[in-house]
Amino acid sequence: MSFSSLGLAPNLVHAANALGFTAPTPIQTQAIPIILQGRDLLATAQTGSGKTAAFALPLLQRLPTLTQGDNEQMARAIRTLIVVPTRELATQVAEVVRSLAQTLPKPPKVVAVAGGVSINPQMMALRGGADVLVATPGRLLDLAGQNAIQLSTVRLLVLDEADRLLDLGFSEELDKILAQLPPSRQNLFFSATFPEAVQTLAQHLLRDPVQLAVTPDEPHPSVITQRAILVDTKQRTQLLRHLMKDLGWKRVLVFVATKYAAELVAEKLYKAGIYATAFHGDLSQGARKQVLAEFKNEQWEVVITTDLAARGIDIIKLPVVVNYDLPRSAVDYVHRIGRTGRATEPGLAVSFVSADTQAHFHLIEKRQGMQLTLEHITGFEPTEVAVPTAPIHVDGNGGIKGKRPSKKDKLRAAAAAQSNVAT
Ligand code: AMP
Repeated sequence: MSFSSLGLAPNLVHAANALGFTAPTPIQTQAIPIILQGRDLLATAQTGSGKTAAFALPLLQRLPTLTQGDNEQMARAIRTLIVVPTRELATQVAEVVRSLAQTLPKPPKVVAVAGGVSINPQMMALRGGADVLVATPGRLLDLAGQNAIQLSTVRLLVLDEADRLLDLGFSEELDKILAQLPPSRQNLFFSATFPEAVQTLAQHLLRDPVQLAVTPDEPHPSVITQRAILVDTKQRTQLLRHLMKDLGWKRVLVFVATKYAAELVAEKLYKAGIYATAFHGDLSQGARKQVLAEFKNEQWEVVITTDLAARGIDIIKLPVVVNYDLPRSAVDYVHRIGRTGRATEPGLAVSFVSADTQAHFHLIEKRQGMQLTLEHITGFEPTEVAVPTAPIHVDGNGGIKGKRPSKKDKLRAAAAAQSNVAT
């Protein structure tokens, strides 16, 4: 299968090839022809599946037809709108769209906006409108509220990582945004998971959509090897160092539960001679960008992060992801391990499981429909015994109830940790 056989114009095929995309990924093969037809789309697609190019390529091809008949009065007009959950994803998606648009005879104006930075430069950038606006919900509404943009001209809407948008409590913002869009438009809806709230949103938003499920029924385009190692809590940093050395890991993304833990583990590794740094919501936007750029350039061997980096961050050819602390839910597990095995590269996801977290890990496994052998590593044999806790059970959304915070607690925590998420 080639990109040109999907109905894409030669210059867009050329742009895809120039980025090293020689053949389309499954989501691209399926989604591109449908989007080119102007149909609404409901796609189950994980990060790493190539979903950004799956919507960006046909969006760029459709752009001239979408703006036909517009008049000059539409000075603040937005033609296509891509709503994403995080700042990082906004930047990344805009970069992909710009790179793919380079070869077009008239490259479109692509603007990314997100909270956490001054609104004024974004207002300036939006003077005269934008062909493609990539935005996080809160900042998008701020800009619309200040009359810096006009959403009634949007002809094509993409909701990217819809499940994450709802997880972060953006449901009200999304309603407000949708209320400002014109009724007649094309809608593309991407989500890695489809809990009830996401399904309701999709039903509300889409008109006679074509449904695609590239995951989870079909395997991820590249195979992610998943491993689970039983280890004492106190031994995890040592074990990480051991595995890095033993298995020759050169670049590892490590997930921990808190910002504090991210700092602590990064410091311990750094002191042990490993180039490790922390990445979390307390860092300034500039610092976060820098860490990501340096990680991509292989200046850091290990980046220790919270779930902030679980979605939307694309580090090309990231070979290994480690769950130093287990994720709270099966959904988060999917997103974390999706950081490795990008598109066509193989990846490895290793989870550290302790006596205390073993029951929780089994719940994640159950929801994922998988069963991993809990490995023991020589020299790191577990000695801890589980402390009994209140019974826990899985809720309908992939979250784990009981000891775990409720959805409301999570939303409140997300709001409190504003710096952790986009606004
Ligand atoms: P995404 O799921 O959009 O975050 O894309 C994941 C990664 O796959 C990114 O690093 C893309 O550059 C890469 N990618 C997207 N499409 C292709 C393709 N057709 N062939 C190879 N890599 C791709």
